[in-house]
Amino acid sequence: MTVKSAPRHAEMRQFSQRDNELIVGDLSLSTLAARVGSTPFYAYDRALVEARVATFRQLMPASLQLHYAVKANPMPAVIQCLAGLTDGLDVASAGEMQLALDCGLAPERISFAGPGKSDSELRRAAAAGVVINLESEGELRRLAVLAEELGCNPKVAVRVNPAFELKASGMQMGGGPKPFGVDQERVPAMLEELGQIGLDFQGFHIFSGSQNLRAEAIIESQNKTLELAINLAEYAPSKLRTLNIGGGLGVPYFPGELPLELDRIAENLDQLIALAKSALPGTELIMELGRYLVAEAGIYVAEVIDRKESRGTTYLVTNGGLHHHLAASGNFGQVIRKNYPVCLGNRLASEELEEVTIVGPLCTPLDILASKVILPKAQPGDLVVVYQSGAYGYSASPHLFLGHPAPQQVLV
Ligand SMILES: *Cc1c(COP(=O)(O)O)cnc(C)c1O
Repeated sequence: MTVKSAPRHAEMRQFSQRDNELIVGDLSLSTLAARVGSTPFYAYDRALVEARVATFRQLMPASLQLHYAVKANPMPAVIQCLAGLTDGLDVASAGEMQLALDCGLAPERISFAGPGKSDSELRRAAAAGVVINLESEGELRRLAVLAEELGCNPKVAVRVNPAFELKASGMQMGGGPKPFGVDQERVPAMLEELGQIGLDFQGFHIFSGSQNLRAEAIIESQNKTLELAINLAEYAPSKLRTLNIGGGLGVPYFPGELPLELDRIAENLDQLIALAKSALPGTELIMELGRYLVAEAGIYVAEVIDRKESRGTTYLVTNGGLHHHLAASGNFGQVIRKNYPVCLGNRLASEELEEVTIVGPLCTPLDILASKVILPKAQPGDLVVVYQSGAYGYSASPHLFLGHPAPQQVLV
């Protein structure tokens, strides 16, 4: 009988190994688990976040501004860490805005995007002095009334929904009808209204997609983004100070996926920055990145509670699952479920290997962490590690589902 195993992932090399254990934040995984005190937990490695930002800065043109999109990982310690490494923070709710302000950076380095900002959120943003990325004409008008009441003149940017798409994106955020931003053909009229109201215009925000691993698709979209911004700038009430060209840089999660070729994107950005210098003098170009900065620096760790056999399948039943890590279970936007890369973090290699399906404690067949993977033979107490878990993990999961305790989070 032949058993068909899942296709293989690119090797995960970001964490080192010692004595057959994964090293996270300079600690062996079992020592880290003892330090945390309970499983499951998320661990984010500060040195890996720092290294990722340093590599990005080294490759990219010096004048390119880097922002961190907080929604990828809003753990306060992670935001604080990235506030010190980047040029600004992008937030998508008043809750995230509060966390960003707590880091002590100047409010003009925080920008607030997202459709459906409530009056209360707009008031808070205007009072805080952060840059408000306007998502509709209605939002502009509500903000104008609130600003008048508050007696302030908020900094605003217009989020544009371009006519083009970022091809091959995990999630489309622009092109066609979208709840995000103002359709590019409506932007000139909105800019005129904005100028009449007299809000403090900063520039444009054009974010067209997320989780993209194809350099050529990102390059094409960045070229079109600058072209669009140059065209729209003619209608602006004042000179552009900022142009946020979005991000969308992906990380490899699934078998067959390869890391993005950042050097090609950097080369193209050199040219774009030169073009922006002549066509939009004095405008800062910003890239906003979430998962690219944090995903690969994070792991999710769950403990094996039970091993069981069922009609030829070996199950490792763990105390972690979709309630903590929806994305790894395949229920966060995947069409066909694929495995995140996993390992046994306290027993990396062994002569004795087996094919297992790793599940959680929830009474639903959706609670799968890995299906048909080859791992060293595991025992209760062993630590299953899900790699690539530093973004859209903890905060993007339904912790309340089935009433188990929430996982811990540590930045080490
Ligand atoms: C979600 C989001 C991001 C971050 O996307 P990543 O794929 O995590 O890099 C950036 N900008 C905006 C406007 C977003 O909504």
